[in-house]
Amino acid sequence: MQLKIYNSLAGEKEIFKPILEGNVGMYVCGPTVYSNVHLGNVRTFLSFDFIYRSLMHLGYKVRYVRNITDAGHLTDDGDVNNDRFVKQTRLEKLEPMEIVQKYTVDFHKVLDMFNLLPPNIEPTATGHIVEQIELTQKLIETGFAYESNGSVYFDVLEYNARGLNYGELSKRNIEELFANTRDLDGQGEKKNPQDFALWKKASPAHIMRWNSPWGEGFPGWHLECTAMSTKYLGETFDIHGGGMDLKFPHHECEIAQGKACNGASPVNYWMHANMLTMNSQRMSKSTGNYILPMQLVSGENDFFEKPFHPAIVRFCFLQAHYRSVLDISNDAMLASEKGFSRLMEALKILNSITPNDEKQSGFNLEDWKTKAYDALTDDFNSPVLIAYLFEAVKFIFALKDEKETISAKNLEDLKSTLNALVFDVLGLQNIEENNNEKLDQTLQVLIELRNQARKSKNFDLSDQIRDKLLAEGIELKDGREGTTYSIS
Ligand code: AMP
Ligand code: ZN
Repeated sequence: MQLKIYNSLAGEKEIFKPILEGNVGMYVCGPTVYSNVHLGNVRTFLSFDFIYRSLMHLGYKVRYVRNITDAGHLTDDGDVNNDRFVKQTRLEKLEPMEIVQKYTVDFHKVLDMFNLLPPNIEPTATGHIVEQIELTQKLIETGFAYESNGSVYFDVLEYNARGLNYGELSKRNIEELFANTRDLDGQGEKKNPQDFALWKKASPAHIMRWNSPWGEGFPGWHLECTAMSTKYLGETFDIHGGGMDLKFPHHECEIAQGKACNGASPVNYWMHANMLTMNSQRMSKSTGNYILPMQLVSGENDFFEKPFHPAIVRFCFLQAHYRSVLDISNDAMLASEKGFSRLMEALKILNSITPNDEKQSGFNLEDWKTKAYDALTDDFNSPVLIAYLFEAVKFIFALKDEKETISAKNLEDLKSTLNALVFDVLGLQNIEENNNEKLDQTLQVLIELRNQARKSKNFDLSDQIRDKLLAEGIELKDGREGTTYSIS
C-alpha cells in the first residue's frame, strides 16, 4: 500500500517516504490561547487528528507534536497577539498566565468533546524561550539576522542573496512582496519591510517579557515553531501541518529559519488544511462570523435550528476533504445527522447477522476493502472513504432484508474493518452506546446513595429514590447480589 500526500511545497501529491522507515514525525501549529477556540479552529485540529489516526492505523509509529502559543508574540500586522493578550488580561483582570491556563484548559475540553487524541508532545512557547534565544544568536552569527534597537530581524535579502528562495512555499516572488508590503511594524528598524522579527524589544506596556542578550523582549511567533519542532523532531522531519492561512508568512518564515540555521529544508511534506466557512465567509473571531463549539452542541445560537452532538459535527467535517473549504450550515448538519444514524444502525445490525457459508455473496469484500484503503491512502480522502462505508451500509441493510448473504469469515472481516475505519480512523463515537453507559453510571450512583440512606435508616429518602425512579420507568430490584435495575 502506497500512501500519497499532497505536499504544498511541491504543489502536488507525492508518495510518502518517511525519513525513518515505519516512523513519522509530525508537527502541527497549535492555538494561541488568549480566548476560546471557535469551530473553524476545531476543523483544522480535527483534520490533523484524522491524519494522525490514519497514519497510526496504516502502521506508522507517529510522534505528533502540537504546540501551544502562549507567549504574546508578534505578527506581521504589528504586535497583534500581544495586544490581544493585554486586552484580555485587562478585560478579565487576570495574570497573563491565568489567561493562558484558562484557555488551554478550554481548548483541551473542546478537543476532547470532539474525540481528538492528544498529541504525544504539547510544548509551550514560554517553555522554550532559551531555545529561541539560542536560535536567534545562531542566525546573527551566521549573518542571516541583525540586531536593531533591541530587536532582532531575519534578513530576507541576505537569505536570497545566498541562493535560498524566500517565497518558495507560498509561491510568492520577493520583488512583488517588497512592492506590496506596508511597513507597519518595526518601522525604521528593519533593513527591508519583508524582514521578520526573531526577537522583539518589549515596550514598557508589554507584559510578557524575558531577558536576552539584546535586552528585555519576547520572541517572534515564527521562531517558536522552529525551536520546538527542531527540538522534538529534528532539523528535518516528515510532516508539518497547519491551516491554509498559516502558509504565509508563518510557514514561509519557518522554512527560512530552518534552512538558515541548519542548511537543510526543515520539512519534507507540508500539509495545509482548508478553512471552515459560515454564511460563505471564513469563520473568524475578528469579523464576528463565528460560532463556538459549545454553542453548536448546546443549541444556544441563532444559526442552527437544534443542538448537534459533537460526533455529528465530527462526521460532518470529515465528509469534506481536508483540503476543501467546508461551509457549515443547518442543512449540512441535518444531512450528517441522518447519515450518521444510518451508519450506526448498520453497525448494530451487523452484530445480529447470521452468516451463510453455502450461498455466494454479491458483495466483493476484498475489492471493497481495496477501494476504501485506496481512498484513505490517496491524501487522506475522507469523503470518498465515507462513500465506500455507505456501500457497505447498503449491503448490510440488504443482509438484514435477507436479499444478500455473507460467509462467516467475511462477516468477521467486515465487522473488524468497519469498526476500525469508523471508530479508530474517523474517530466517530457511538452516541447511543455512550448514552447507555452514562445512564448506567448515573443509576449506579443513585443505587449507592439509596444504600447509604438505608444504612443510616433514612427510609424516607431511600423510598423516595426508589419511587421517583419507578415513576420514570426504572425499577430497582433488591437481591442477594445487590441492587439491579430494569428499564421499561
Ligand atoms: P490561531 O489560534 O488563530 O493560531 O488558529 C489556530 C488554527 O486554526 C490555525 O491552524 C488556523 O489556521 C486555524 N483556523 C483559523 N481560522 C480557521 C477557519 N475558519 N477554518 C479552519 N481553520 C481555521
Ligand atoms: Zn507554527
